[in-house]
Amino acid sequence: MVGVAVDGPYSYRVPAGMAVSRGSIVSVPLGPRLVLGVVWGAPKDMVAHNRLRDIAHAYDVPPLSEELLKLVEWVARYTLAAPGQVLRAVLRSTEALDAPRPVLAFRRTRSEPDKQTPARLRVLEVLVDDMAWPKAALLQAAGVSASVVEGLERVGAIERLELPAPPIVEPPNPEAAVATLSAGQQQALEQILALDAQQFGVALLDGVTGGGKTEVFFEAVADTLRAGRQALILLPEIALTNSFISRFTKRFGTRPAEWHSDMTPVQRAKVWRGVLDGTVRAVVGARSALFLPFRELGMLVLDEEHDGAYKQADGITYHARDMAVVRAHLSNARVILSSATPSVETRNNANGGRYAHVLLTSRYAEAAMPNITTIDMRIDGPEKGSWIAPLLAREVFGALDRGEQALLFLNRRGYAPLTLCRSCGHQYQCPDCSAWMVEHRFRGVLMCHHCGHEVRTPTVCGECGAADALIAVGPGIERVAEEAAARFPDARRVILSSDMGSTAQLKERLAEIERGEFDLIIGTQLVSKGHHFEKLTVVGVLDADLGLAHGDPRAAEKTFQILTQVAGRAGRASRNGKAFLQTYHPDHAVMRAMVSGDREAFYAHELAARESGGLPPFGRLAALIISANDHDVAMGFAKKLLSAAPMAEGVRLFGPADAPIAMVRGRYRVRLLAQSGKDFDLSGYVRFWLASADKVSGNLRVQVDIDPMSFM
Ligand code: ADP
Ligand code: ZN
Repeated sequence: MVGVAVDGPYSYRVPAGMAVSRGSIVSVPLGPRLVLGVVWGAPKDMVAHNRLRDIAHAYDVPPLSEELLKLVEWVARYTLAAPGQVLRAVLRSTEALDAPRPVLAFRRTRSEPDKQTPARLRVLEVLVDDMAWPKAALLQAAGVSASVVEGLERVGAIERLELPAPPIVEPPNPEAAVATLSAGQQQALEQILALDAQQFGVALLDGVTGGGKTEVFFEAVADTLRAGRQALILLPEIALTNSFISRFTKRFGTRPAEWHSDMTPVQRAKVWRGVLDGTVRAVVGARSALFLPFRELGMLVLDEEHDGAYKQADGITYHARDMAVVRAHLSNARVILSSATPSVETRNNANGGRYAHVLLTSRYAEAAMPNITTIDMRIDGPEKGSWIAPLLAREVFGALDRGEQALLFLNRRGYAPLTLCRSCGHQYQCPDCSAWMVEHRFRGVLMCHHCGHEVRTPTVCGECGAADALIAVGPGIERVAEEAAARFPDARRVILSSDMGSTAQLKERLAEIERGEFDLIIGTQLVSKGHHFEKLTVVGVLDADLGLAHGDPRAAEKTFQILTQVAGRAGRASRNGKAFLQTYHPDHAVMRAMVSGDREAFYAHELAARESGGLPPFGRLAALIISANDHDVAMGFAKKLLSAAPMAEGVRLFGPADAPIAMVRGRYRVRLLAQSGKDFDLSGYVRFWLASADKVSGNLRVQVDIDPMSFM
């Protein structure tokens, strides 16, 4: 199989003298170039005809495991991606395949130098006990320049040798700092470890925010490492997880190998190679770490398993949680899905007994769950032109007076979501997307959040030319920050949103907040995920309804999750926390579940609603997004596609309809949705359907999204 987007394996001849087997990584000629590929097996009809081209090179690395090859096939079949495209997610670089460069080192010989100098003496002193020293370390320890060492080598007093490259990380030590678990944590751990270590099994670690889930799954990882198998921990936003890495380091005595987009190609290559040759025993990574070439994988942990970041939306549209379960199944490995707000899918699996349901119902140590209150915007809302309700403002003052921290949360970047002209009514829209241009006042631009298009914020209306007539409508996080500056001028304030600095800067801000260097945090969902801010006691959600608006079948679930996570930032240490939800719908099932703290009521309500609608996890969905530069072309093709749909019992088709975001980057988007029962092979159906439909041509594109998470 070659790592390019083609449907099946190609045949090559194994040249004399080359030994390859299934899983071997090779390079092969494809057209005029050489591409990476993996030996999938011998072709069924082994006719040795001489038109076959030779395999160009077989890399001297262990073969990919059988499970990984099966995973590639599985993911391709399920998501409708080409197998070669999935393979490319496995074979990321050639750098990882060449032998790691050895390290140049020196050691003493028996002979003495003809002439001694103080610098030479220092070198010989460092080398006194016959140990070989890497060159760089030697130069540093002796405080000499390279010429001194070269001189000693020339006269034969020292000799050079090559040491194998050191591993990218030291192996984690499961005994480094074994946690003392609370009784509840210990019980949870035992339930997890009751899963047979040699078999596939999934545990839902369902514990309140601050319940100490991390400690529990670290001990489970330790168990796997002791048994000599590799472990993978997936995190939704790894680039920002300073504190997670340091907790791992404390627990296991060494940093984990990391895997995410913020690493250099060289670092990635080393981790990839280490995972394959087995020197890397534990990886902490983003969703794509799922495709790393483990050969002894025994444990997969998905922290915050409900998080939307686990779904990859472009390229191969896979959900890392589901594929992790598949991979574990193929590898006879255990899986821990950890969350305070499990996805409805996972809860359903736990309810049905397919996953072990492991509960952590109270917070670690003396921390109590936050008290949650709604603020009814129709009665107690903020004054006109402001966004913080009087009650919330009082609570923030209270926290500041007590020397605690407060958080104002609004999940919307920028200053205002809409700019319009008071004089002519013109609304600023992206020229290429059906979306408003969002004002970012700090940077002085209007920006489209779909395609990134930017213009400098105008001072006169582009439509009617009126000066000073443009007004900002609605709040974004920067506008909340402006109000906070006016109301709480003495508080040390920080505003946190993904577009406000580099990853390194954001990490630094988060660390400063953890150290208590700010009193008032104003942030988007970036602050809601997993952080542990000890002094934070008051959380205000300025628009708790934000996620409920659109016709997304997962809107209630997503809202419940984000509100619980944000509220869960409050009172994680010894002080009690309070959270306030500003809402126009205090009677909505989500708000009621939040206030009463009755998660079970929420899940029961949501599962019942899904079941009656035949929605996941009780049914399957597949979306087809048809796009083209011309609306009629996209719609026309979608209609033809619909009429070509094969009949199948239990499959319902919806659409075609213009997508809620009807245009992105100048392409018109039309959606079709297929719905089926749970036990139906919807991927197979869609594959059959597309194969029998007209070929896609011109600038038309059909994107298939199995188990869609977004309906925009
Ligand atoms: P969760 O992942 O469930 O939100 P954490 O694992 O982050 O919770 O735990 C919350 C806090 O409690 C953290 O500061 C953590 O260090 C502390 N903690 C949890 N369990 C223990 C333990 N057994 N020993 C010491 N500290 C613990
Ligand atoms: Zn745009």
